Amino acid sequence: MTDFTYVVDGDGVATITWDVVPKSMNVMSMAGFAELSAHIDAALADAGVKGVIITSGKKDFAGGMDLNVIAQMRTGGAQAIFDGVMQMHGVLRKIERAGMDPKTLKGGKPIVAALPGTALGIGLELPLSCHRIIAADNPKAKIGLPEIMVGIFPGAGGTTRLVRKLGAMMAAPFLLEGKLSDPKSARNAGLIDEVVAPEDLLTRAKEWVLAAKDADLVKPWDAKGYKMPGGAPYHPAGFMTFVGASAMVNGKTQGVYPAAKALLSAVYEGALVPFDTALKIEARQFTSVLMNPSSTAMIRSLFINKEALEKGANRPAEPDQAVKRLGVIGAGMMGAGIAYVSANAGIEVVLIDAAQDAADRGKAHSESLLDKGMKRGKVTSDKKAEVLARITATTDYATLAGCDLIVEAVFEDPKVKAEVTAKVEAAVGPDCIFATNTSTLPITALAKASARPDQFIGIHFFSPVDKMNLVEIIKGKATGDRAVAKALDFVRQIRKTPIVVNDARFFYANRCIIPYINEGIRMVAEGVAPALVENAAKLVGMPLGPLQLVDETSIDLGVKIAKATKAAMGEAYPDGAVDDVIFRMADLGRLGRKANAGFYAYDDKGGRLGLWDGLQAEWPVRDGQPDLAEVQHRLLMAQVLEAVRALEEGVLTDIREGDVGAILGWGFAPWSGGPFGWLDIIGAARAVEICDTLAPAFGTRFEAPALLREMAAKGQTFYGSTARKAA
Ligand code: NAD
Repeated sequence: MTDFTYVVDGDGVATITWDVVPKSMNVMSMAGFAELSAHIDAALADAGVKGVIITSGKKDFAGGMDLNVIAQMRTGGAQAIFDGVMQMHGVLRKIERAGMDPKTLKGGKPIVAALPGTALGIGLELPLSCHRIIAADNPKAKIGLPEIMVGIFPGAGGTTRLVRKLGAMMAAPFLLEGKLSDPKSARNAGLIDEVVAPEDLLTRAKEWVLAAKDADLVKPWDAKGYKMPGGAPYHPAGFMTFVGASAMVNGKTQGVYPAAKALLSAVYEGALVPFDTALKIEARQFTSVLMNPSSTAMIRSLFINKEALEKGANRPAEPDQAVKRLGVIGAGMMGAGIAYVSANAGIEVVLIDAAQDAADRGKAHSESLLDKGMKRGKVTSDKKAEVLARITATTDYATLAGCDLIVEAVFEDPKVKAEVTAKVEAAVGPDCIFATNTSTLPITALAKASARPDQFIGIHFFSPVDKMNLVEIIKGKATGDRAVAKALDFVRQIRKTPIVVNDARFFYANRCIIPYINEGIRMVAEGVAPALVENAAKLVGMPLGPLQLVDETSIDLGVKIAKATKAAMGEAYPDGAVDDVIFRMADLGRLGRKANAGFYAYDDKGGRLGLWDGLQAEWPVRDGQPDLAEVQHRLLMAQVLEAVRALEEGVLTDIREGDVGAILGWGFAPWSGGPFGWLDIIGAARAVEICDTLAPAFGTRFEAPALLREMAAKGQTFYGSTARKAA
């Protein structure tokens, strides 16, 4: 394996080039680190070498540590992780000290990082240990430390170095939020030192190396009299920063993300001690995060499996089905959003509505999103014109000729959908795939209106389409492989994450979300304090409590779904207690955020104020409130048991889709890695125990599914060695 090459030129400048040949982006492994270390040793030992440039053979510098390696590190135990991390610190510290005399700080060799493009995670931590960071002026490049997004934090000195370089306050957005910057913004923020024209990158790096003086090599924290910018914790200004940061992080994360807490501890404790001790503290905190099952679960779902699904893990073996011309029928909220994301991805779009002004309004949605992008400097006027030119807003079905995919997003009414299906099929060629964006109607039944049910499929977007990254692809009974491949290729083109599920009431996401909302509402009817319901949800990592969620999605939609479900299920309909509450709310005109009135009160501008104080008169809070844990178990199990049943019934065929879909689709406690990740963390036996407590008290909906009981009896986990992908 050679991830790094080493060449010394005639002027005595060594260039270490990072190029992990089989990959399109450099990622670091432990073996890669060892190679890098050997090259640094060679450069420091060779009297003919004056200095070193570390750069990349690819258009980008590096994407970070190989997360597959990190996900597996836990298996070696805490000591092995700590030792491995300290080894990395050793190599990076060797670069930073570069052979200088530790007392006089003289005699080191200058080492410069030359970044041609993106530099993330270890791809920035390595440069931070160098004496200067020069980046090519490449506006597409992203520079930053995104580790926190997958449940870890920068553990190769990035945390300690950035805080000492910028101060805790200025480093906070990069460490705590994983903020990424283009090279110029990174330079302005002080993350890197210099931005040069791409063609000058290596010349400038060499020039710097040859001109560097001893003093240029000494990091502020290694120099005498170093004081942390903004103040260390016991400095009056620093004190304010640390108290504030702690409150802010706990407010944002509700304390459920181990990485955020550990990062704060590493920053705080590290700020009180000398640099090398701070690195040890960082390593210890990093080890504790990796030993926490949450980080493994987050890396697995938010990175490894998400990427596998995006790359088509469950795509049938069909030839490329990339969409060239897309027809979107219905230019309402969803259709307009689908037209925008597609045109933005370079696809020609025909956007049809029943009236021309409705079609035009749909296209205007793209214009307003592009204008917003222009205001934020993300979109140029050329790009705006290009995207808008791709959308033809019309009422004329004949314009659909030549479309290879249709997404229908008209009213949620089977009759209207059937009419549209027939009209579209008369206008398009025989190979065109027809997709419906229905959120509740069974695909198999809608496909009856099609002359080509094997080319009929569900492509279910979430609202707002431009922000929500999950797309649920639903196979009807007759749906063929080419339709599935087409849907997956389309989702890939628009850079979203797909899951593929089988047809059943509410498919997968809504099947789990609705019981979550219903459980919250049921508790209100029982006299559980609404604030307890909402806070219990947030304290377990749900982004929105069930009452806030139903306010956002609207209470009349809840009423509509309840009526339709009751009509379909008849006597077996289990949610009468929920309906009493939402029907009453609808009667009161409290339809949620859009009406500026719901379970919450809102000000005139739509700002959410707090829970509506009239709830008490309608559903008095009873004496004696349940434990927080009981409320949380009810809210989580309402969702999780549906996910398990969906797997048992074959609606889900892959637990990875169940977990990734839950986090991206409705924000299911991301720290847990998803419903199956959560079940693995608590264990099937404990899950069954919780069900056995809840079911007698609250109803059969909490009865443990047979699959879970069987797994508990056999000591199985979903992802473990005895993993089961499908029932
Ligand atoms: P909407 O009412 O905003 O838009 C529907 C549009 O379809 C309207 O512009 C209407 O004029 C047009 N339309 C109706 N009949 C038509 C016909 N015969 N020919 C052409 N155009 C016609 O509704 P929406 O919220 O965009 O929902 C559309 C579909 O997407 C529904 O099936 C809905 O269940 C589904 N969906 C909605 C959401 C959501 O959050 N709103 C999420 C996922 C899926």
